[in-house]
Amino acid sequence: MDRGSTRAQGAAPVPPYCDHCGEPAAGGHAACATARELEPPRFCPDCRRRMKVQVVPTGWTATCVEHGTRHG
Ligand SMILES: [Zn+2]
Ligand SMILES: [Zn+2]
Repeated sequence: MDRGSTRAQGAAPVPPYCDHCGEPAAGGHAACATARELEPPRFCPDCRRRMKVQVVPTGWTATCVEHGTRHG
């Protein structure tokens, strides 16, 4: 039912940073998106801290000291 009303400060579904290169997510990160299909992320998309990444049998885990562990 979104009739195009203002959605200025809603919860943005897109994180602010690219989790592959750590640069602001705005703009083209097509190469990063491609790489991310093969590799775990390196940077926290919320704060761009470098995450501690471990490859596990099911994929990977990446831990940000601020935002916890992500799984993939
Ligand atoms: Zn990127
Ligand atoms: Zn973080």
